[in-house]
Amino acid sequence: MVAEKAASSTKANQENLDVLASTRAVIKTALEKLGYPEEVYELLKDPLRMLTVRIPVRMDDGSVKVFTGYRAQHNDAVGPTKGGIRFHPDVTENEIKALSIWMSLKAGIVDLPYGGAKGGIVCDPRKMSFRELEGLSRGYVRAVSQIVGPTKDIPAPDVMTNSQIMAWMMDEYSRIDEFNNPGFITGKPLVLGGSHGRETATAKGVTIVLNEAAKKRGINVKGAKVIVQGFGNAGSYLSKFMHDAGAKVVGISDAYGALYDPDGLDIDYLLDRRDSFGTVTKLFNNTITNKELLEQECDIIIPAAVENQITIENAHNIKASIVVEAANGPTTMEATKILTERGILIVPDVLASAGGVTVSYFEWVQNNQGFYWTEEEIDKRLHEIMIKAFNNIYDTAQTRNVDMRLAAYMVGVRKMAEASRFRGWV
Ligand code: GLU
Repeated sequence: MVAEKAASSTKANQENLDVLASTRAVIKTALEKLGYPEEVYELLKDPLRMLTVRIPVRMDDGSVKVFTGYRAQHNDAVGPTKGGIRFHPDVTENEIKALSIWMSLKAGIVDLPYGGAKGGIVCDPRKMSFRELEGLSRGYVRAVSQIVGPTKDIPAPDVMTNSQIMAWMMDEYSRIDEFNNPGFITGKPLVLGGSHGRETATAKGVTIVLNEAAKKRGINVKGAKVIVQGFGNAGSYLSKFMHDAGAKVVGISDAYGALYDPDGLDIDYLLDRRDSFGTVTKLFNNTITNKELLEQECDIIIPAAVENQITIENAHNIKASIVVEAANGPTTMEATKILTERGILIVPDVLASAGGVTVSYFEWVQNNQGFYWTEEEIDKRLHEIMIKAFNNIYDTAQTRNVDMRLAAYMVGVRKMAEASRFRGWV
């Protein structure tokens, strides 16, 4: 047992789990394949701007706690930057940088007039009161207010942030700016200028590309065994959509554990019992670990939690024939290689999860024009965009003989590289 543990940790040590380093490596290869000179890589390997802030918050017990937050703006050659803000105890500077680069790639893939950005605060919102969270959200906006704004950089929800947090942030920004400014942030509640379909957008986008991938592999989603890792915004809606489409959702998980039943789980019951952070497995005794979950029998795996979940340690044991990445960065580059060699089709994060920012773009457009669309209009536009993006990347992978991730990076980076060249930056 001890020897086994030691062996596995040595194995993990051999793999580079630094998401920024691995993102850079794929960007470099993508740019080389597209024939861009080294200086374009030099420009795009890091965000143009990275702000670190300290946010003092008066806690409920009267003490002051100082939180660290970040905002990275990757590249604004195409347009203002855009990307979510995550609240998580494991947030790091490098992670936020990588996430901002991924947002640039997503915007390129679904052809939005944006560059990428990302924000994060090192905190555990599950352990904070409503009042403390409001103070932290407002404090963050005050700290980054000079570099964000509806024509500069537009934040949105991400891991453990939601429409209430967006509402506080919008209110704080509007006070600083001295007028009502809904286009400053997306993912707002409907009554504050939010968009129909934003809450379900990431999951809907994933579902659309998952259906296309299943067609390519001759898998019928109806009756297919699906594992969804993570029960937050993306994971919970995905479980529901898969269940409603007639798939058998055999596994789900949250940060504390996982549930697996080869006969299918009672998704409606689980959705009913989850808390606002997506925690549900604490209610059960017969749980397995997240690690064990990913190695169970299934046709399709949807990682919808955090980074580095499929690594060289478990890539050989994945039973699914399709992996659809709803989370950002769930599969390492080494694991990507192993899965691809094993004939498993990966629908990469920068494509699969781009539905969220796509409907965020719709929200921003509606805020700017002051005229709002119906849910049907949103769904139709999202559908068209996701199908087009999937086919573009699938075809690129075939014609250039590269894996889906590299194809997605090639498609995603091109517009940004071109825009940077036209502007005379490189
Ligand atoms: N946080 C989401 C993502 O990672 C959405 C970002 C946005 O809507 O701007 O794609």
